[in-house]
Amino acid sequence: MNVAVPKEIKNHEYRVALTPTGARELTSRGHTVYVQAGAGEGAGFNDSDYAAAGAQIEPDVATLWQSAELILKVKEPQKDEVARLTSQHTLFTYLHLAAEEALTRGLMESGATCIAYETITDAHGGLPLLAPMSTVAGRMAVQAGAHSLEKAQGGAGVLLPGVPGVAPGKVTVIGGGVVGENAARMALGLGADVTILDKSLARLEVLDSRYQGRIKTVYSTADALDHAVRESDMIIGAVLIPGAAAPKLITRAMLGDMKPGSVLVDVAIDQGGCFETSRPTTHAGPTYIVDGIVHYCVANMPGGVARTSTLGLTNATLPFVLALADKGWQQALGDDANFLPGLNVHAGQVTYAAVANAFGLES
Ligand code: NAD
Repeated sequence: MNVAVPKEIKNHEYRVALTPTGARELTSRGHTVYVQAGAGEGAGFNDSDYAAAGAQIEPDVATLWQSAELILKVKEPQKDEVARLTSQHTLFTYLHLAAEEALTRGLMESGATCIAYETITDAHGGLPLLAPMSTVAGRMAVQAGAHSLEKAQGGAGVLLPGVPGVAPGKVTVIGGGVVGENAARMALGLGADVTILDKSLARLEVLDSRYQGRIKTVYSTADALDHAVRESDMIIGAVLIPGAAAPKLITRAMLGDMKPGSVLVDVAIDQGGCFETSRPTTHAGPTYIVDGIVHYCVANMPGGVARTSTLGLTNATLPFVLALADKGWQQALGDDANFLPGLNVHAGQVTYAAVANAFGLES
């Protein structure tokens, strides 16, 4: 099969959908891989790395798309890319269509078969192609928050591990899912005093047994939040209510109960944020201060560590890429009940119910 990897064109997107390692897996199975010149640069991969893996480097973007049967991307297609899509293409990428009506209609009009990373499932009810980026964001949250606690960033000047004779900083993580557990693990590794709040007792049980009490678990209530606000040096927001905007768990009034220079890291900002005073920021200006509290609210945290994110993402996507290339989309999805929910748009129809319902379309 002819597989093409365009350079991502969304603002500040440095990831790439296929590494040279992945290109080698495809070419060794007899597939032809076209990589747009410079596509891997932002993630630290040179054209020569792809060429050594048997890929063909294509400088012309129009030729690249015209040569392709299977297109591998990271972000949803931008306007120029939608215009290049035709019914000959199978597109495999993050789509997040439920909030993007114009994009959904553009993909329908293209006639292409569009498979989304984020709606593929696994045998345990998880989302295996979202999890690697939640892992990155969770781990990064503590790194970003620890930096924000420094005086020069407006923070309280607290070192999370403390020093001999000085108690460690207190970190509270709200939401103990993929982001939350990874954040808590990082904070624990730094020597902080770590508490996770969650609404799911089952989840708290898993975390309690996994960390043997080294991470405190607390059932999430208004009282627990009031306590966290008064005690914590850093609070990480990592809640998710699938399909809904994040609940505002810390109000502006509650900031007055926090210690001056404490830090709020709102990882859930991509779902609207779980703190009332959160607004999306970028890696170029990641923090701002409200009522003496430092806020870190970067909506695309994995983009800041594009190399690690690319490697983590492509490890998860590669088996699906190989199945698509080897079998074609119909058989690949037909053979795998967890891959099938990835299909979002085919031959002008939305095939994923939640997206169709969002726009009153038939699925
Ligand atoms: P997840 O489903 O694995 O975990 C969410 C957890 O929140 C669950 O355990 C759930 O029980 C808990 N929860 C729900 N409501 C709660 C409440 N009121 N109090 C306490 N806990 C509550 O989700 P995840 O993959 O960890 O993602 C968490 C958030 O991070 C999502 O909003 C996701 O979109 C976001 N995210 C952001 C970035 C970024 O770059 N900013 C990157 C990845 C993920």
